[in-house]
Amino acid sequence: MDNRGKIVIVSGFSGAGKGTLMKALMQQYRNRYALSVSATTRAPRPGESDGVDYFFVSRERFEQMIEDDALVEYAEYVGNYYGTPKAWVNEQLSAGKNVILEIEIQGAKKIREQFPDAILLFVTAPDAMSLKSRLLGRGTETEEAAAARLRRAQEESLGMDGYDYLVINDTVEECVGRIDKIVNDEQAVCENCRMSANTDYINRMKTELLSFAKGDES
Ligand code: 5GP
Repeated sequence: MDNRGKIVIVSGFSGAGKGTLMKALMQQYRNRYALSVSATTRAPRPGESDGVDYFFVSRERFEQMIEDDALVEYAEYVGNYYGTPKAWVNEQLSAGKNVILEIEIQGAKKIREQFPDAILLFVTAPDAMSLKSRLLGRGTETEEAAAARLRRAQEESLGMDGYDYLVINDTVEECVGRIDKIVNDEQAVCENCRMSANTDYINRMKTELLSFAKGDES
């Protein structure tokens, strides 16, 4: 048996707090995980830096990376390209690290095809209303961009069932602990977090997001 790491895909609604969770996970378990830094054509948000949060590149550069087969996967999300650099991911896996890819749903599907053993986690806020307020309250998006992300969240909710585990972001510490247990295959925790054990929650989320996407003010 080799000791290659596992690929852990973390997707979730914009505003669900994935970034905060991943930072906390890396702080707590730095020796076990490596967090992939994606390339993107979107502009940096205040406080983001090149090479840390993303590699911020032009559309031309990104298209060159696609042509050079330098990405494990890529997708377009609300008008911008996002992609996972291939060489770095392979290096980390070979070094025995679990590689976390914080990517959206189309990319997750492509990874699953290439790496059938990848673990797919879907992170969500406790309910749709708190997701909406986090998105609108973030203040880093224009109103239109926030509305587009909310519509996108509704579309993405339709794909939640394709993930292995649901991670409800109630408190950061508990979530980080749960994620680590899932990756280490600690069965008791895993069973409660399985998508198939959370169908009521998923259906409620889908219904609430649909009503927001249609513009219902509630
Ligand atoms: P944001 O603009 O909020 O940083 O990211 C928008 C979306 O793109 C998020 O759902 C994020 O997980 C996703 N994303 C970030 N990097 C990648 C990537 O390399 N590939 C794919 N497919 N999605 C990504």
